[in-house]
Amino acid sequence: MRQQGLFDNTPEDVEAPWIADSASDQTVATIIFSEMPWGPFDYRVPSDLMESIAPGKRVAVPLGRGNRTVTGFCVALTHESGGQVSRPHKLKFVDEVIDDRVLASDHMLQLTKWMSDYYLARWGQVLQAVIPSGVRTSAGTREVTFYELYSDFDHEEIEKLPGKQRKVAQMLAGSLMPLTGDQLSKMAGCTMAPIRSLVKKGVLNTTKRRINTGNTTKTSVTKQPNIPLNADQSVAYDAIIESLRAQQYETLLMHGVTGSGKTEVYMQAIEEVIRYRRQAIVLVPEISLTPQTCERFQSRFDTVAVLHSHLSDAERHWHWQQIADGNVQVVIGARSAIFAPTPHLGLVILDEEHEPTFKQETIPRYHARDVAIKRAQLEGIPLVLGSATPSLESWQSASAGEFKLLSMPSRVLDRPLPHVSTIDLRAEYKSKSHRGVISRPLVNAIKETLNDNGQIILLLNRRGYSTSIQCPSCGHVVNCPQCEIPLTHHKFAPNQKLSELAICHWCEYEINAPDRCPDCSFDGIRYGGVGTQKLETEVKARFPEATCLRMDSDTMTRPNSHEKALDRFRKGEVQILVGTQMIAKGLDFPNVTLVGVINADTALHLPDFRAGERTFQLVTQVAGRTGRGSRGGYVLVQTFTPEHPAIQAAVKHQFEMFAEKELPGRQQFGYPPFCSMVRLIVRGPDEQQTMAFADLLARN
Ligand code: ADP
Ligand code: ZN
Repeated sequence: MRQQGLFDNTPEDVEAPWIADSASDQTVATIIFSEMPWGPFDYRVPSDLMESIAPGKRVAVPLGRGNRTVTGFCVALTHESGGQVSRPHKLKFVDEVIDDRVLASDHMLQLTKWMSDYYLARWGQVLQAVIPSGVRTSAGTREVTFYELYSDFDHEEIEKLPGKQRKVAQMLAGSLMPLTGDQLSKMAGCTMAPIRSLVKKGVLNTTKRRINTGNTTKTSVTKQPNIPLNADQSVAYDAIIESLRAQQYETLLMHGVTGSGKTEVYMQAIEEVIRYRRQAIVLVPEISLTPQTCERFQSRFDTVAVLHSHLSDAERHWHWQQIADGNVQVVIGARSAIFAPTPHLGLVILDEEHEPTFKQETIPRYHARDVAIKRAQLEGIPLVLGSATPSLESWQSASAGEFKLLSMPSRVLDRPLPHVSTIDLRAEYKSKSHRGVISRPLVNAIKETLNDNGQIILLLNRRGYSTSIQCPSCGHVVNCPQCEIPLTHHKFAPNQKLSELAICHWCEYEINAPDRCPDCSFDGIRYGGVGTQKLETEVKARFPEATCLRMDSDTMTRPNSHEKALDRFRKGEVQILVGTQMIAKGLDFPNVTLVGVINADTALHLPDFRAGERTFQLVTQVAGRTGRGSRGGYVLVQTFTPEHPAIQAAVKHQFEMFAEKELPGRQQFGYPPFCSMVRLIVRGPDEQQTMAFADLLARN
């Protein structure tokens, strides 16, 4: 409810010179700001701005005693008739309306308001974050002056004008729309001088408008026909169509194993949406925004906007406008694409819904899945969540009947799921012949696959060379002084000279890799644990005849390196792909017949209640990268704990089994999905005071 006083923008009861006539009707605009003092504050709308102001546009308003000009968002307009005006002389006037077009529709205002309440962020901050900065700054556009004749111009007057000016006026008289100075001078064959004279004489009217300077080209991809759906796909498709036709909110959880044809179902459902002249948003993890994914959609639909993180401000602005104008049928993007300004949204798809990257970890913090649910509710449309390994939150919602469950338990064309077996590293390490991190069974499997001209994916979810540095004499572990986690050893070869660093993977703190113990100076400090860099070295040493490529965030630093690497792999130029979770997801290469997991336990013992869930997801997802073609495929999982339920369930492709094992523990210890968790961070300059305050919070 509105509280009076709170919204007034003059703190004291001062009679100010801008006092308006309190007897007449007035329109009041509620304005919020993206920084202190946040608002909302109320302002009066002067009559000359009545036409242009609207909720969702930015305005310039005077703020504070000094009346400095500040930009704010208009979030509401209320009309008060003269009789009800309760605080007529306190309100200042809006100075200016900044935007020609509404930046946040009513739905978007409601959505951001909800986010502000739910995630405890300022509404202005949320709006600021969901409207791309390129849109706010009109990136890639420039202001251009357009000329036209006044509507009441007299044709006879034109004849009396001097030569060049007459030519200009005649051109405009024959034009259906206002023209720019450039166009006009070209058409009339003159300089700007006669045009300017006409403006001075009051013959021409000028208006300023922003136009796009960028030229984003449309990609043309050969169109592909639909694939006839199989029985499971049809059931899922029908359920989505039914939901679309009901024109009501509903969340459908599509649990389909890797390669079950989920994307095909999404695309055919979107076709239906487009038939209603509505738009669809498809959210995928950033890492899956590969050309491969995008081309699949571009090969079906005429207008697809791909919102990836490498867009320039100007490109982002251009896409935003195209989307807002209704010129885009399908928007594909990472989490922030949920804020795409589609004018008539019909369906939201959120693929790989279990992915933690849908969560934004900076202000305004949000989870795209929850925002998608809210947006679907506001717009009265269905939301489809898809995954081979649903989050336990979504699974629980489906069990409780809040989401509708759609199951696609088998792969298309009766392709079998890959056979997965574990290799017990405890036994391997005991055996005499053991050396390196690739066990004998895995070495043999790689050899066989190479002989058969198959391709191989080796997953190790740790980058760097060695993953820990410890002194065997005093036991000292080289940790980050800020984060207290072990530093990872990296080798670099800039200008052929090898340099070795120890780097904190959390905060990027780095030192030269020590050759003595920094604590006791013992001359024999030990580097232990294996990262992808060392794994790559080992692979190259053992299989010198094969080409090996490493993909992790150290090697994939350039904007296109990810695509280039995958392209080489697709073409068969690379036989062995080594990498972190970056290679575990979404890739569809029919020739991959072997997947090796170097150490399934890397995430298992992290102090995170989702450690088991993440392990299950990672192993299942990477296993899904093989057996996608007619050649089949198999998976070898190296682990110290083959009996762990998460690994057991992944080996058997048994999501339900995993959920049944995991959920009771979550319930018992009060973890999500049975409760919600909030992380509170208490910061302060004084350790004791900060501790005391944190204690106080914990006790309450
Ligand atoms: P998912 O998204 O579940 O991993 P995809 O949609 O990527 O599965 O489908 C895997 C492969 O199977 C793709 O190459 C796709 O074109 C193909 N496919 C999908 N549906 C069918 C079908 N009904 N019949 C034959 N092939 C299909
Ligand atoms: Zn650190």
